[in-house]
Order: sequence, then structure tokens, then C-alpha cells
Amino acid sequence: MGTTVEIYLYASSGERAAELLEAAFAEIERVEAALSAYRPTSEISRINATAARAPVVTDPEVFGLIALALDYGRRSDGAFDITVGPLVKAWGFFRADGCHPSPAELSEARAKIGWQRVALDHAERTIRFLTPGIELDLGGIGKGFALDRAAHILRRHGVTTALLGAGRSSYLAIGAPSGTEGWAITVPDPSDSARALSEVQLRDRSLSTSGADQKYFDLDGRRYSHVIDPRTGQPTTGMIQVTVTALTAIDSDALSTAVFVLGPERGADLIEDTAGATALLVAGYEGEHRVVAIEWSEAFDPRGR
Ligand code: FAD
Repeated sequence: MGTTVEIYLYASSGERAAELLEAAFAEIERVEAALSAYRPTSEISRINATAARAPVVTDPEVFGLIALALDYGRRSDGAFDITVGPLVKAWGFFRADGCHPSPAELSEARAKIGWQRVALDHAERTIRFLTPGIELDLGGIGKGFALDRAAHILRRHGVTTALLGAGRSSYLAIGAPSGTEGWAITVPDPSDSARALSEVQLRDRSLSTSGADQKYFDLDGRRYSHVIDPRTGQPTTGMIQVTVTALTAIDSDALSTAVFVLGPERGADLIEDTAGATALLVAGYEGEHRVVAIEWSEAFDPRGR
């Protein structure tokens, strides 16, 4: 998934821990094989290649995930949009070679996006694209789904204490190490990653961060983030970092991306509408920013830096 997954767990022996880790990583590999737009053989690539021509009968698990992601499109008024792929490509983020698209390239990409242009038939379990050129990109939600699935496997094998993390941007905690309130996760200060903005004791919850400093490129003195505002076709500006905690990693992943696009006011509505969700935002621009807490119960440095 273009990232590093780490899993820490407690088990009765080293041998048992190795078996459990193997089962969890096999599940992550299985999810990646289904969801990766970087793999031509994935279920997502098959849907992308054929759903503009005719309805595609889809694997039940992938269908359920797409339905959930489209619901986030509805709930966020299109700020979270899994059809954003053509824009991600136009801005050079798919292959990490950032560039400024021409107005013609931009309008061509914008003509190919829109979560409402993906039609689901729940009875037939089919997906159909209502416009040619639509592509699904689960980059904003896929890692969270993989962590949720791997945690499900671990719980099914009796694990009660584990921490799963993907690339320092998504974490999922099962229980807590003995004698602690939770797994200590630091929310970094975006101006100085050695400093903490806040610290969360994560227990049976997930935490995801979307940040302008995670994937970006600098061009002509401006920093462009890989989170695109589908409503304008432009990389999101005015937001530096969004950290969300939620009951599942799918939720925290989708919400951190959505709130990054929506900003503090509209983002707060979405967080407050989601059971168990909290958020800590750093809004503004480098050198001039404010920290906004939404339902966030942990202490935080209100100044950031
Ligand atoms: P987040 O902030 O959570 O989300 C940003 C990502 O979401 C963007 O990169 C884009 O993909 C998408 N996005 C942008 N704007 C929006 C929006 N408004 N609404 C919804 N989504 C949006 N990367 C590689 O380089 N090589 C690989 O082989 C590779 N394989 C992958 C396989 C899978 C199954 C997945 C899920 C991702 C893969 N990636 C790969 C992508 C890479 O890891 C992404 O950078 C990552 O998914 C983005 O996560 P994030 O937490 O950094 O960003």
C-alpha cells in the first residue's frame, strides 16, 4: 500500500505471536490485492476498467466498502470523494511526480469525477459508472479498512491486546497493555515533528492523521497537498493537519480526509454527527495557524507552533 504496516501484540509465546502476525499480515495482503489501483489484477482495477460499459457484479466485501465510501461522499457534501482519482493523477500524485496541470487537463479531469456518478444496485450487487472515465481511488480509506480487517482476524484468534499502525498516519488499538489506560500515540506538531501537539491513550479506537506534509510537492514557492478538494479540482489549502479518532479505522481515515477538505466549521458538523468521533485540527498556513479541538478530550498545546 505504499506504506509500512507495524503490528504489536501480546500472546502466550513468541511462537504464537509469530502465527498471529502471519495471519494478520496475510489479511492485509489480501485486502491490498483487492483494493489496489496500482495492481491491474485487483477488484478495483477490474471495476475501473469495465463499469462505464455495463454494471459489474462485485465482490461483496468490496461492494460494502464502496457503498460506505460513497455514503461519506454524501455526508461530506462531496468533500470526500472516491472518484477523485483523475484529479490525483492530473496533479501528479499517483506516481509521485507533482506537477501543475494545464487548464485543459484540469477541466478534463473534473469532467470525470463525482461520487453521484457511481450507481450501486444493492439487490444485484452491481456497480455502474454513469460517465465514462470515472475511476475509483480508495487511497483515503483503504489503509483503514486493511487495519480493521487485520484487527478482526486478531480478535477472532483471541487477541485482546494489540496495536496496528500503517505509515504513522493510521492506528488501531485493541485493548491496552496491562497497567496502562491505552497505547500512547503522539499527535505530532506539524511545525516540528519532534514535539507533541497532543498524546492519546488509544484503547479499542482508531486514530488517523491527514497532513499536508505527508505527500506533497513544492512548486513556484507553494506547497501542494495530495488531498484534493473535489469541488474545486485544486489541492486543499488552508489546512495543515487533521487528526481524527473514531470507533473504526475506516471511519477515522475517511473523516480525517473529509475534514481536511471541509475545514474547521463544516468539519465539526461531520465529526459531531459521527458516534464516537473526535478531531484535532491545525488550520491556517505555515507560520500562522490555529489549533481547533472538536470533542477532543486529551490535553493539547493550543498554540501549536
Ligand atoms: P489521506 O490523507 O488519508 O488521503 C489522501 C489520499 O486519498 C490521496 O493520496 C488520494 O489517493 C485520496 N484522496 C485525495 N483527495 C481525496 C478526497 N477529497 N476524497 C477522497 N480521497 C481523496 N501508493 C504507492 O505509491 N504505491 C502503491 O503501490 C500503493 N498501493 C496502494 C494500495 C492500496 C490498497 C491503497 C489504499 C493505497 C495505495 N497507495 C500506494 C497509496 C498510498 O499509500 C497513499 O498515499 C495513501 O493511501 C494515502 O493515505 P494517507 O493516509 O497518506 O492520506
